[in-house]
Amino acid sequence: MQTRYRVLAALAALMLVAVAAATVLAEPDRPAPAYDPAVAPIIERIDASEIYRTAADLQGIPTRVYPSAGNRQAADYLYGRLTAIPGLEVEYQDDRYRNVVATLPGRGGAAGETVVVGAHYDSASSDPGRAPGATDDGAGVATVLELARVMSASGFDRTVQFAFWNAEETGKEGSGAYVRDAVERSMAIPLYLNYDGAFYDPEGRFVLDVLANEESAPFAEALARYNDLYGTGFELTRNVHGCASDHESFWEEGYPAISTHAEEHAPGAHSPEDTVEQIPLEYARRNAQLGLVLLASTAGPVAAPSAPAPGPVKWYPVGDPGSFLDARAGPGTAPVATPPDAVTPGPALKPGSRAYGLVPPSGGFVRWYPSARWKAGIATPTFG
Ligand SMILES: [Zn+2]
Repeated sequence: MQTRYRVLAALAALMLVAVAAATVLAEPDRPAPAYDPAVAPIIERIDASEIYRTAADLQGIPTRVYPSAGNRQAADYLYGRLTAIPGLEVEYQDDRYRNVVATLPGRGGAAGETVVVGAHYDSASSDPGRAPGATDDGAGVATVLELARVMSASGFDRTVQFAFWNAEETGKEGSGAYVRDAVERSMAIPLYLNYDGAFYDPEGRFVLDVLANEESAPFAEALARYNDLYGTGFELTRNVHGCASDHESFWEEGYPAISTHAEEHAPGAHSPEDTVEQIPLEYARRNAQLGLVLLASTAGPVAAPSAPAPGPVKWYPVGDPGSFLDARAGPGTAPVATPPDAVTPGPALKPGSRAYGLVPPSGGFVRWYPSARWKAGIATPTFG
């Protein structure tokens, strides 16, 4: 008997060790941020003109101040835009505040975890009847909508939610209601990414401030690494601004959250002068791209890419950033401003195929894409 008990005790001890080991292994591992060739073509689909169009539509509603008829109209507009995107499940979250939330269901084993990106759709103004709120926060809303459009074409391991908060200007009320509900339902949220006051750059300085707390510092560090790896070219600062925004609703419940913020506030913020002319489109495009990389990497590998799997990527050093290269141009040759249609096959291309190169905004390298896929919006690099 005694021996048997000892065996049982030993077995129990072994099992405890095994459980402990499994717990350690189940901890989300955070590999060092790396360049992902599956994510690179997705961020190329971010379209600044889409961001502008949405912000202009929102500005077309005279005021989005909570609560007002225009505020409800803005929510209905966003609901309509989101339901037109295939693959999203759209709902009004919370009866009182009517956050608009679109869900892209996860396709992998971690679908029970939800990565959230959001911005607030209400506005504020010295004249509540005229509150265009373009930089605060129409551009943020437009960016989250553009992320929804682009990301919904891909599949991710984790669930991704695109959230449009109401009543931020009256005390982060919409996001507060969402987070309270998330806690009640024991939602696992590995990351919330916030866009607010994140689009103003009149001198083209590309300075971007990242607001992070101790818990979310690894995500801010990852963002800095991705800024280098994907050539988004921001000069990043950390916590220069202390603006209270919806990310703080997540902080208050212990969820990791970061917010991007422009170097300074637009001078017309919270006035009838906060109009779309103030939105820096290239800055907005890159800010959306950078956020997309962080979201995609946090949401997990692309489960079912809508584009064919990319082949090896070949990089060529070139000159001026933003130039197109003739496909015949070899490594190190001067760029020529050739529109994609006029590009002719070069010796490195298969007969009958056409390609052109795009220099990332940060400059220095060119990447070749087949032109047919580029035109289809699928800029997948396929040969090296
Ligand atoms: Zn704001």
